[in-house]
Amino acid sequence: MALIPVAEALQRVLADAKPLRTEVVSLDEAFGRLLTEDVIALRTQPPAAVSAMDGYAVRASDVAQAPVVLKVIGQVAAGHPFTGKVGPGEAARIFTGGIMPEGTDTVVIQELTTQDENGVTVQKPTPAGRNVRGEGIDFAERQTLLRKGRRLTARDLMLAAAMNHSRLSVYRKPTVAILGTGDELVPPGGSPRPGEIVYSNGFALAALARSNGAKAHDLGIARDRIEDIAAAVRRARELNADILLTSGGASVGEHDLVQRALAAEGLELSFWRVALRPGRPMLHGRLGAMQVLGVPGNPVSAYVCAFLFLGPLIRKLAGRSDSDIVDLPQPARLGRDLPANDERADYLRATIEETRNGLVATPLPAQDSSLMAPLAKADCLLIREPHAPAAAAGSDCIILKLGL
Ligand code: AMP
Ligand code: MG
Repeated sequence: MALIPVAEALQRVLADAKPLRTEVVSLDEAFGRLLTEDVIALRTQPPAAVSAMDGYAVRASDVAQAPVVLKVIGQVAAGHPFTGKVGPGEAARIFTGGIMPEGTDTVVIQELTTQDENGVTVQKPTPAGRNVRGEGIDFAERQTLLRKGRRLTARDLMLAAAMNHSRLSVYRKPTVAILGTGDELVPPGGSPRPGEIVYSNGFALAALARSNGAKAHDLGIARDRIEDIAAAVRRARELNADILLTSGGASVGEHDLVQRALAAEGLELSFWRVALRPGRPMLHGRLGAMQVLGVPGNPVSAYVCAFLFLGPLIRKLAGRSDSDIVDLPQPARLGRDLPANDERADYLRATIEETRNGLVATPLPAQDSSLMAPLAKADCLLIREPHAPAAAAGSDCIILKLGL
């Protein structure tokens, strides 16, 4: 199979991915999810006129000729309404959030009053409506405040709760099952023996999956044996994972068995070689309803491939709008000279500096696909198209910013 361009690979990965079904979840679980229905207010907010300050609820006409003494006939606080009626010459002590008692139309702030056994002395007039939040100034019952397709922010959850919703209808979260492969791999935190390498990819891949809105499920590390890899693939299917993400074993060495194990499990291969650096031996296909992405084992390749393909795939399955699925590169200026590129698109790890003339992106000096320290230093991927000519410092370039 020939190398396929990055854009075509992405198109194939997204081709038949459709938003997953709808589920109703509690507000606690709804953050960052996409609404599948409009959300309509179940109540009016505030449900009645309330005081915005601590003070005295009075009739504005009574205090127009202040100073004046009024009789205090009751008290009202948030959650403790006053049921009586305030007549002429009377006042009710009121606190922020207290419902305006019948008969009152304004609140004199307590700083403009003194209270003693004779009542409250109001020093200055306060016009009608002052320090009062009218009924429904925030929203009214039956108003549609959040629309279908919206990705729920922290503020939206606040609003949904205030509208008196405890649960919302959203797209199901995609589940990504993550598998490492390699006889040499051991979990971090132990005492690796000669020849052993610490398993690192999965931690980045799981975090990336979650930050794109998926649930990550760790399938652990399979040995370089077809049967081990196939067993892990079957576990992913039993879990009903939406995406199986493997790393390692993806190229053509004798120990690179992922594609063979997947084929034995019935993989419908869509491609397995991309004109991309890092990440040429990247694979995509389907096992029934489960999408499969096989990324190379070198940590930088694994991360860059997941950033370019897994992120968009998760976002599409999670119901994100078209403009929100694929990250569009943004313009910057080159921070150093670059040689001409070969036939593969290059995604160089680069730092970003914000200058008066815009962003300057400088590729890190070491670009080998095994190097995690420069990857962690990078702010962006600087994209070099296939066959791009040599470029001088200061010339235009395009970048993809790396997130958290
Ligand atoms: P592979 O694609 O299996 O040939 O692996 C390429 C290189 O990446 C080898 O040096 C592996 O040891 C390393 N590697 C593979 N998988 C991982 C992983 N999950 N974490 C860290 N390094 C890995
Ligand atoms: Mg390997």
